[in-house]
Parts: sequence; structure tokens; C-alpha cells
Amino acid sequence: MPSGLPQGAFVAKTVIAVDGPAGSGKSSVSRAAARALGFGYQDTGAAYRALAWHALQQGVDLDDAAAVVASWDTFDYSIGTDPDDTFVRVGDTDVTEAIRTPEVTAAVAHIAKLPEVREKLVQLFRQVMRKADAQGIITEGRDITTVVAPDAEVRILLTADESVRMARRSAEVTTQSAAETSAALARRDAADAKVVDFMNAADGVTTLDSTDLDFDQTVQAVVDLARAATH
Ligand code: C5P
Repeated sequence: MPSGLPQGAFVAKTVIAVDGPAGSGKSSVSRAAARALGFGYQDTGAAYRALAWHALQQGVDLDDAAAVVASWDTFDYSIGTDPDDTFVRVGDTDVTEAIRTPEVTAAVAHIAKLPEVREKLVQLFRQVMRKADAQGIITEGRDITTVVAPDAEVRILLTADESVRMARRSAEVTTQSAAETSAALARRDAADAKVVDFMNAADGVTTLDSTDLDFDQTVQAVVDLARAATH
């Protein structure tokens, strides 16, 4: 807290919003940039995944929208915003790994398309941003620059050519063939694009194309945008 302010005084937190398609590297890039800046980090896809995991655990029929929405009532979600400790929990269960399986990934679209669910999650994301104790927070997803935090100091759309995104994702997923992973990524982008436009930058959003950048260069570009906006 800056000196001279009474304890408990409101200190504005810097918010950096990052959106992008699957495989754009937005999670790993945002996390590394948060670490470099001393900021918190929130992966909003983790909450959609955790709710899908929870609904699957409860045996909810994912085609039954009312049942999916009702599963929210027993959804006790928590996420770590320290970029060095990004756990995801539902109740007492650590689901950090479990939410990355192809089964959960395939189920998320059923959850993400429901406006009632999105509304609740948007409130949850804003609450996490308010509560995080670092002086700034990077929040990443699909609708952060447009819906969750349209007033963020820095808004970035992180993109990369589809072939590059597929190659990066295939290198991460070891339980599926490259062809399966690529097909799943294309299916997911197509389903997600019906819900939010994360392929075109909204007004005032900076497009960062990482096709020809390596990981460190992409992180540096995010850090530079953040520093330029906050100094
Ligand atoms: O970012 P990640 O790929 O983990 O997100 C998983 C899914 O959650 C996406 O495919 C999308 O359906 C949904 N999602 C969303 N809005 C966000 C973040 C994720 O609809 N802000």
C-alpha cells in the first residue's frame, strides 16, 4: 500500500485482460507475464472446466440446460491467483489436473453456451479480481476484454495461426494423437465462436499475434504493453 494512505483505503488494482482462441498460449503466457510483473493471475477457462467436471461428477445430463444450471448450487469453486500456485478446487477436491482431460474439455461447450451460467461466472471472475491481493491481476479467457473487464487498463487479443496453435496444443496433450488433438481444437473453436467473438479484437483491444514469436518474446510483449499502460 502506498505510504500516506490510511489502512483499508481503496487502492486501484491494475487489470490486464487477455483473450484468445484455444492453443494461442494465453494461459502460459499470461501466467509468466503475471510472474514478471508481480501480479496475480486468473485463468477463467479453469472455472468453466471445473463446472463441467462437477456436472459430470454429479451425473448431470449435459444436454439438460436446467440441470446444468442447477448444478451451480452445489459448485464450491476456488482458484489460486498466485502465478506460482494456481490450484483449482471444487469443495475439498483438487481438480487442477482433472479439468484438463479430453473428456472434460469436450464437455465444456455444453456449459459455456448457457447465458445463465456465463452470467454467474462473470460475477465470480470479478470477485476473484477484486479479492486478489497483488497490486494487479492478469485475467485471461474468451470474453475478458469485452464482457468481464471491458474497462481494464490493458486489453489484449492473443492470436496465432491455426496450424501453429494446433502444433503447440499437440505438443502439450500426450493422451491423444496430433490429429485427434487438432480436430478437437478446431471443433472447440467453432463451438466457442458461436458464443463469443474472440477472433477479432474489439475497439481499443491490442492484437498480439504470436505466430512468429517464441514463448519468451510473447511474454515480453505482454509485459511491455502492461508497463507502457501503467507508467
Ligand atoms: O481457456 P480454456 O481453453 O481452458 O477454456 C475452456 C473452455 O471454457 C473454452 O473452450 C470455452 O468454452 C470456455 N470459456 C469461455 N469463456 C471464457 C473462458 C473459457 O466460454 N472466458
